[in-house]
Amino acid sequence: MATKKTPPRPASAPVPPKCGPCDGTGEVPVTVHVGRKRRAVGQQAGICLACFGTGEATTD
Ligand SMILES: [Zn+2]
Repeated sequence: MATKKTPPRPASAPVPPKCGPCDGTGEVPVTVHVGRKRRAVGQQAGICLACFGTGEATTD
């Protein structure tokens, strides 16, 4: 009774599209500003808001 049905697989596995802004890394460099003049003091890694850190482009 335990018949397993395996769905037919496509010949090539679908590769998720790579996110553009972060180049698939899920992180983007964010410039850190301080002070009233908003002087840039450096950069830190921030989560990519385009893919929310997944590195995969959303298809919506
Ligand atoms: Zn991204």
